[in-house]
Amino acid sequence: MLLFLKQDTTIEELDALATTLKQYGVTCMLGMSNQHAVAELGGNVAALDSEMLKNMDIVEDIRCMEEPYRLASKRHHPEDTVVQIGEVLIGNGHFQTIAGPCSVESREQLFATAEAIKAAGATMLRGGAFKPRTSPYSFQGLREEGIHLLLEAKAKTGLPVVSEILESSQLPIFADIDVIQVGARSMQNYELLKELGKTDKPVLLKRGLANTVHDLLMSAEYILAGGNPNVILCERGIRTFEQSTRNTLDIGAIPVLKSLTHLPVIVDPSHAAGQHRYVAPLARAAVAAGCDGLIIEVHTDPHGALCDGAQALTPPQFADLQEDIRSLHPIIQRTIARENKGRPR
Ligand code: PEP
Ligand code: MN
Repeated sequence: MLLFLKQDTTIEELDALATTLKQYGVTCMLGMSNQHAVAELGGNVAALDSEMLKNMDIVEDIRCMEEPYRLASKRHHPEDTVVQIGEVLIGNGHFQTIAGPCSVESREQLFATAEAIKAAGATMLRGGAFKPRTSPYSFQGLREEGIHLLLEAKAKTGLPVVSEILESSQLPIFADIDVIQVGARSMQNYELLKELGKTDKPVLLKRGLANTVHDLLMSAEYILAGGNPNVILCERGIRTFEQSTRNTLDIGAIPVLKSLTHLPVIVDPSHAAGQHRYVAPLARAAVAAGCDGLIIEVHTDPHGALCDGAQALTPPQFADLQEDIRSLHPIIQRTIARENKGRPR
């Protein structure tokens, strides 16, 4: 990071700056550029608050050379990360579809859905056991029983399972769950992220309802900084003034994330759409924008669902979508390969 200092900066002020920076473990080397004193910062620069620096009287401008999400950034790790879940790979050209009900409701419901999505080509089964509901009076999930049913479905179908954790005290219950989902509402639960960083479990980190791409990358950084490299990012729609869909799917976030980070990026069109009729078009758009996978809610009886029935696809609707995605893929892969080579169009 470079600090461009005001022309009338005194030696005493420079000393004070160096002392302040030292408290953060940051070193400071002084030089000159175009008649300006420039301080080049090194060491623990990630600990600094750039707004705080900009506000200092002696600082005219700052230039950040490195992203604050150092470990998540493509600069740090140019090769795309592949996250391995059992035999399933995701990222760097490996595309996967995760599907299943919003909530695990019963053995029959889960098993029927699991068999159907597997037959349609999904490679992982999702199902919420602990549900973060807006209303305390809504179905809160089967909790531990839901986790047991997911593990039974995994044993029966061979599909790895994905489920949402709400707090770190639940980690022992998730020991055999293949991918731990951190939901939109928990994306900034930094204590939870730190605990997940101490594990080697793949984490599916969803973007918060009102969070920027930068916020999402900073949350991923918490998990990576703890030593867990297995992070999958998920765009699931954000809150905007638009009311015609449940959330606004930020399609732009897909190429942006793919250019900023090496982590796999998947898309959840179900929670963005809120209505089943919009799920397939959004899913196709996400694939066209270059995501590494999809997570889609599927229910055998959407009208009877205890959670998010309006946005659930039926198994035949899901199978049709899988067909579309299979036919889109060769075109998209070619486009991405061309873009990555930077060939003129
Ligand atoms: C879910 O996946 O069912 C869910 C609650 O998602 P989100 O955190 O994106 O709202
Ligand atoms: Mn849901």
